[in-house]
Amino acid sequence: MQKDKNIELIYIVGTSYSGSTLLGFLLGAVKKVETLGELKMFNRNIHRICTCGKESSVCPFWQKYYQEEYIVFDRHAFLKQFWAAINIFMGKKIKQDYFKNTNDYQFLKAIYQDTQQKNKEVRYLLDTSKNLWRLSYLLQNKEINVHIIYTKRDLYGTVASYTKRYRFGFLQGFLSYKIKNLLVERFLKVNNLRHTIIHSKDIRFRPQETMEKLGSFLEVSYENFQNQIKNRIFHVRAGNPNTRKQFRDGFQGIRKKDDWRQHLSAFQIWVLSLFD
Ligand SMILES: [Zn+2]
Repeated sequence: MQKDKNIELIYIVGTSYSGSTLLGFLLGAVKKVETLGELKMFNRNIHRICTCGKESSVCPFWQKYYQEEYIVFDRHAFLKQFWAAINIFMGKKIKQDYFKNTNDYQFLKAIYQDTQQKNKEVRYLLDTSKNLWRLSYLLQNKEINVHIIYTKRDLYGTVASYTKRYRFGFLQGFLSYKIKNLLVERFLKVNNLRHTIIHSKDIRFRPQETMEKLGSFLEVSYENFQNQIKNRIFHVRAGNPNTRKQFRDGFQGIRKKDDWRQHLSAFQIWVLSLFD
């Protein structure tokens, strides 16, 4: 392998519950893309179960990287996030101090090299972390070519997912959705970044068409992804356990239903309609 070869990284940015885990598996259906799940979670909870069924720290894929003690960038401390957000809103490019204790480039490079040894076809690594701060951190490293996919879900579905899980989920989901999407959009615009936008309902209802759209963005053919995905072995240690289970036992197809109406009251739906 040449010394100065860049790393091609696909990064999924977006809000929580935007279907990024599923999209990660679908993109990883082809041999050209190695899906790694949410890399920001790498140092968190190393006992988490990987899609291969083993604990992350002893999984045949991840074990090595835990032994080599890589530290990945996760997110800023709250105040720093706040300051960065203000800057993005004001249309400024944010400058970050390089994090001396993180070694994402070495980490990605090791994965890239190992993966290419096993599979000559691999061209991209895929990180589904979603987080804007991690994206902006990765973009600072010029040896990483980041290909940005921005996933969006509708306001109702996102808020419903929060209300299912959190006591103040309605407000939390609403604010998080509005602020994060606004920040991502502003950030992409201010920095003039090439990206593609994928709506999560399109992944569920028009998977073939949506994957082909992504294929032309990445210059990868997704024509036959529904068959290819069945033969792929994934080592992903993040995201919704149900999605994980679906892939551990073999791909069952995409569940089409989005049951947000069950989780929101008529009043809540009305309130959201004012802001949609
Ligand atoms: Zn594994």
